[in-house]
Amino acid sequence: MTRNSNLLDRAADAAAVAAKYCDEVDAQSRFPTEAMQALKDARLMGIMIPRDLGGEAASLRDIAEVCALLGQNCASTAMVYAMHQIKVSSVVSHGADHPWHRAFMACIASQQLLLGSSTTEGGGIGGDLGNSICAIERDGDEFTLRKDASVISYATQCDAILVTARRAPDAPGSDQVMATLLKSQYTLEKTAEWDTLGMRGTCSEGFIFEGRAPAEQIMPQPFAEIAARSMLAHAHLLWGALWYGIAANAVSRAQSYVRAEARKKPGQNPVGALRVAEAASMLQLMRSSLNAGLERFEKAQLANDDLNSMSFAIDMCNLKIGSSRLLNDIVQQAMMVCGINGYKNGTPYSLGRHMRDAMSAPLMINNDRIFGNTSNMLLVHRLDQRLAS
Ligand SMILES: Cc1cc2nc3c(=O)[nH]c(=O)nc-3n(C[C@H](O)[C@H](O)[C@H](O)COP(=O)(O)OP(=O)(O)OC[C@H]3O[C@@H](n4cnc5c(N)ncnc54)[C@H](O)[C@@H]3O)c2cc1C
Repeated sequence: MTRNSNLLDRAADAAAVAAKYCDEVDAQSRFPTEAMQALKDARLMGIMIPRDLGGEAASLRDIAEVCALLGQNCASTAMVYAMHQIKVSSVVSHGADHPWHRAFMACIASQQLLLGSSTTEGGGIGGDLGNSICAIERDGDEFTLRKDASVISYATQCDAILVTARRAPDAPGSDQVMATLLKSQYTLEKTAEWDTLGMRGTCSEGFIFEGRAPAEQIMPQPFAEIAARSMLAHAHLLWGALWYGIAANAVSRAQSYVRAEARKKPGQNPVGALRVAEAASMLQLMRSSLNAGLERFEKAQLANDDLNSMSFAIDMCNLKIGSSRLLNDIVQQAMMVCGINGYKNGTPYSLGRHMRDAMSAPLMINNDRIFGNTSNMLLVHRLDQRLAS
């Protein structure tokens, strides 16, 4: 596969800024302002947008590379960037024939807008993406929406938020749409703080979201179609890519530690060397499965119906579960290698932040909830037993 080197050079500059402020962002649980500004300065916010609308038509693979690079330097920045791109993917994949969303895409590219997401809801919905309590209420050419949004990352920094809701007050919970509301069209009343173990810079606070906007800002397709055809794959692949970045950095720290130990005691193989080898093999597994996932997505995009298929959904869910688990195993392994120097903050081998950030991975849409969904599909779907995909 060819890599878009120009894009990666620009991303490397932004990643260096992210690395510089990473510990401060984590300690203060604050938005990674400097890194996000660097990403905007590098014109990386609208890269997925088609060229005729001012973007660069970057592939998911390119964007995954940017997320992996950011993940090596500041996981919170990488997560903010990934979540933004997941939202952009919904607009790009489903808004191409829709005048308002076409104009919005041009704005994202020209003004380097930051998009946020509100799917999670209070009242027992939680991470159950496919259900909403809140509903769109039509009022002439406009609509209003009030949502108890129990988690919205970087909400106060967003230029627009894409919100899921029931199609109408009399629609069932699963009959959902997604609407795009601009900053000037909504208010946010804070209901929950974000003082967490990890991913502290995502500032994923809770809010009562209240908005009014023209009805043309509601995406025409049902949300179930948006989730199946674009959001699920983009989320699991981009999250996986940034988690890979965290894991790669943890292994690199463990390797540096072992090398330093080897220099201190020439002729002796440091105890941790074996664990570094094992961590490297797990990292390779993580990398291979992400690359296979990206390939699976590229193939499914060509065969239109495949994106809606159970086999594709199961593959993407398994990828999320596998990469979130491997990440935690790898960071744990690296911690064993670096020992007290990994456990302490402020050493070149510190791994506390990696470990805390990694722990969000199985919880971000709980792996048990995902297993619940795949187990239902596996009651009717036969797994492909061939080695070649
Ligand atoms: C860093 C971070 C950033 C986030 N940013 C956003 C954001 O910007 N916007 C947004 O909308 N959300 C966001 N979220 C929230 C996220 O999308 C999920 O809503 C959240 O992690 C809760 O997931 P959950 O409901 O699956 O699990 P939890 O609320 O953590 O708990 C679910 C519990 O129910 C159990 N369970 C398992 N299966 C089921 C089932 N089928 N039904 C019911 N319960 C089940 C689980 O085992 C678990 O014990 C973010 C989360 C994190 C960690």
